Amino acid sequence: MELLREGARSLGLNLSPRHLAAFETYYKELTSWNQRFNLTAITGYEEVQTKHFLDSLTCLLALPKKEGGQAIPDTVPVQLGAHPLWCIDVGSGAGFPGLPLKIMLPEIKLTLLEATGKKVTFLQHMVQTLGLQNVEVLHGRAEEVGHLPKHRERYDFVVARAVASMCVLAEYCLPFCHTGGRMVALKGEDAEEEAHAAEEAYTLLGGSLTAVKPLPIEGLRPGSHLVVVDKHAPTPSIYPRRPGIPSKKPLC
Ligand code: SAM
Repeated sequence: MELLREGARSLGLNLSPRHLAAFETYYKELTSWNQRFNLTAITGYEEVQTKHFLDSLTCLLALPKKEGGQAIPDTVPVQLGAHPLWCIDVGSGAGFPGLPLKIMLPEIKLTLLEATGKKVTFLQHMVQTLGLQNVEVLHGRAEEVGHLPKHRERYDFVVARAVASMCVLAEYCLPFCHTGGRMVALKGEDAEEEAHAAEEAYTLLGGSLTAVKPLPIEGLRPGSHLVVVDKHAPTPSIYPRRPGIPSKKPLC
């Protein structure tokens, strides 16, 4: 896990032997399950460290800060405060970015939401194998779970990677954020354009674009960015629309 350790150091994160052992176990289980279920196309030891684990950890740069503030720093401001941060990973797949965040910050409360059953089974297996506490694995669609009182407007931090375009993703994610919460999407080289093209959708859903942060970090895909959207007002109850509608008729 040397590449991960080096990369994490450039984010200001010091991975302990315990963290590294957890990531090693995650790698082994991911590649072993991948022979039976198609979980990921990225399976090489080095690529998993950078393109899955390190890439996921970059979300921590945008952890909500106590006093707010617009700028996203270059190193992780780990200051969780008195109540543990409640985080949801929407469309988690094989656990990215949610599980690496939880391995790094065991005190967060985490929900992993995934629509595909076999991936949900893998996520449950990983949570058990890594002995993670306060993780809920949910089998469902964002369009439905986003209306459940237990999950609607509850989360401090909503993360997603490779799930949908920003116009669609905003409708999946912003209903989960409470007012004052934050949504972070991992995006590629078109992030700037995509993030701005969806501004109308953020406004409709009670949010606004805070930052598009380039991530010039060795090992990550060139052009990687974080798109950070903050929630300022409740999301109107009609959103998210019925399953499939956000992607068929995007808000922008
Ligand atoms: N986030 C993971 C990653 O970056 O490796 C998985 C990315 S995969 C390309 C997209 C995942 O989002 C799939 O596992 C899919 O089942 C899930 N997904 C897509 N739309 C969803 C929705 N509306 N609600 C919940 N999960 C969804």
